[in-house]
This record gives sequence, structure tokens and C-alpha cells, in this order.
Amino acid sequence: MKIFVINCGSSSLKFQLLDMQTEELITSGLVERIGIEGSCYLINDGQEKHRVFTDLPDHAVALQHVLDALVDPKFGFISSLDEISAVGHRVVHGAEAYASSVLIDDDVMNELEKCTELAPLHNPANIIGIEAIQKLMPGTPNVGVFDTAFHQTMEPAAYIYALPYEMYTKHGVRRYGFHGTSHKYVSERVSAILGRDDLKVVTCHLGNGASVTAIDSGKSVETSMGFTPLEGLVMGTRSGQIDPAIISFLMDKENMTIDELNNMLNKKSGILGVSGVSSDFRDVEAAADEGHERSQLALDVFHRRVKRYIASYAAVMGGLDAIVFTGGLGENSGRSRKLICEGMEFMGVEIDDERNDTRGKEVEISPEGAKVKIYVIPTNEELAIARDTLALTKDLV
Ligand code: AMP
Repeated sequence: MKIFVINCGSSSLKFQLLDMQTEELITSGLVERIGIEGSCYLINDGQEKHRVFTDLPDHAVALQHVLDALVDPKFGFISSLDEISAVGHRVVHGAEAYASSVLIDDDVMNELEKCTELAPLHNPANIIGIEAIQKLMPGTPNVGVFDTAFHQTMEPAAYIYALPYEMYTKHGVRRYGFHGTSHKYVSERVSAILGRDDLKVVTCHLGNGASVTAIDSGKSVETSMGFTPLEGLVMGTRSGQIDPAIISFLMDKENMTIDELNNMLNKKSGILGVSGVSSDFRDVEAAADEGHERSQLALDVFHRRVKRYIASYAAVMGGLDAIVFTGGLGENSGRSRKLICEGMEFMGVEIDDERNDTRGKEVEISPEGAKVKIYVIPTNEELAIARDTLALTKDLV
């Protein structure tokens, strides 16, 4: 069975085609600048990446080009779209309606429309992607896999904000958490590696967007992103947690509108805002090495925040068996992993420097016999989406 996985953004989309008999990737690619001048798509034939510049006014046209490329005999990926048994869609927000992935029908589409209010930047693009596939591949089942679903196991004590309770009942203001597909994938891997399903794990997804999750016996019990993906850790351009009073203070002092302030918190803050150099950790690490003080400060603020979450989540769970690092930074920066873990030896968290000198590979980085096992586990959200899609559709044919 072949599964097509799509992750639609407002002007871009990423895709993968997987053979689920072997879980091997057949091809992957992305489309950029949909509806904007200079649009193009890129497809990987295993040896090289082919970039094609063409007019892509909307997602349906973009997807039509991608589907044409999938069946193009020049590449030899598949001979007909009938070979694709189902399509899995990453959907950012499933609110409280979805605690797991779902086969998409009209009722689900109506529910996704309702969730749009909670994720105005993301869900509309996800809906457009599903509608485009429904039009281009009628009869092929679609599955929605939600970033929020894994965190639906959190208890009210973890997800209720201390606002008037009606803000939750009237408007759905609560912690939802995101990156769920990634946290679930790496926590299942660490359970499989250690052969235990009763682990207390903290998973750190550290990339341009970043979040930490406490997972007890396979269930998310705490997570750092909140009502939106803005809360929690310091990120590439996002502030993460700040004192909410700063918002009205700055609106007044800087004469900013709420939109301008939102833009500042989402696009101009985080590692970029503090360092003034870049949102990319590689640039900021390089600048810090050359003595740029604000870059060093940005990294210090980032590392300290991750440390705070790990330690407090261990307290919430009443113990800690394993820590997992994933995401672009978590998988590749031994230096960040080391600085985050430093100082937590008192609770059994220790890094083996030699083992930690690794990149993008699944490996244990704690010393032999360590109390808390620390792992680098590359995430694979697309494979997780494809697995759920297969599970929900394999009996349909
Ligand atoms: P992601 O959003 O998961 O793709 O992660 C992107 C982030 O990972 C960027 O800020 C990159 O700078 C960071 N990253 C990737 N490779 C490295 C590396 N070797 N060292 C430090 N940061 C890295």
C-alpha cells in the first residue's frame, strides 16, 4: 500500500510518498510560493532534486503538478494514482474534538472549519489541501492527523489557565499543545528501545518551533506549547512564555497595534530577537563563538528555559526515566544538549561527551548504567502520519 502524506501551509506544501509494505520513502518534495510570483515545486528522485518554476495560483493547481510528477514515467515512482491507497494530511488543530487521527468525511470537514477560529493561520491551509485532494483524487480516502491530538490526555490541572473559567467554556481558551505527532513518535521509539511501556519521559522537540512534553506511560501529561504554538520555550522567532502584562505595556510605550505586537512576538522575538543576528541556531552558535555577547545570551536564555521545563516535568511526573532530544537542533547540536542537561546531575541526568558527539542518528548519549537514559531520536512525523493513515484505511478497500 502506498500512502501520500501532505503538510499544507498557507503558501507552501510539503509531501512524501511512502511504500507502507516496507515503510520506505518513494519520493518527497515541496511546493513554494503558492499564489505568489516565483512559485515552484521541487521533487526528489532519490539522486537529485528537480526544481520546476511554473505558475501555481492555488493549492489545487500545485497539487495537480505534484500528482503529475508522481506518475511521470521519467521518474518511475508510480504508474497510476490508483496505486495510492490513501492520503494523510497533517492538520494543526483538532481542538477537543479529536484525541486521535480520523478518517475525513463531511462531518469532520465541518468540525475542522469550527477549529479554524483557534488556528487561523494554519487550519485554513490544511482544509484547502484536503479539498484539493478530494477534487483531484475522488474516491481516495483522506485521513487527518492532528498536532493537538496526542495532548488530549492531559488533565484539567495541566490545561486550564487561571483565567475566569468561562473563558474556557465560552471560547475554548485552554492549553492544547502542538508537535503531538513528533512527541508521540519519539516517545514510542524510546519505549520500544527500552522495552517498557511504563516510562516517565520528557521529550524535547527543539527546532525552529520548539516544545517539551512530559509523557507518563505513553500519555502526554504536560506540554509547553499552549493555546497557540507561541507559549513555552524560546524559539527561532517566537518569544515563548512571557509575562502577559508586557503586552499592554509595550502597546502603550511603542504605540503598537495588537497585530503589530502579535507579529513581534511570533516573528521578531526568540533567538532572533535576543541575538539580533539570526533565527537559525547555527548562525547564532557561530556568532557566540566569535564573542558576540547577545548571541551567547540568546543561547543561554534558550538552554535555561528547556532545563526549567525538564526539571519541572520530572517533578510533575514524580520521576524521570528518559529524556529524548529531537528536531533540527535537538538531533544535531551536541553542544545544546550538553548545556541543557548540565547542572541536572543531582537528579540523575548525565551526558557522555563521547556519545553526545553525534548528529541526526538514533543513539543513547547518557553513560552506561545512567539513572536517566538520554537519547537522540530523529523524528519522522510523515511516517507517523502514514502509519495512522494506513491503520484507518487498510480495511476500506
Ligand atoms: P527544524 O525546525 O526542526 O527543521 O530545526 C531547524 C533548526 O535546527 C534551525 O535553527 C537550525 O539552525 C537547527 N540546526 C540544524 N542543524 C544544526 C546543527 N548542526 N547545529 C545547530 N543547530 C542546527
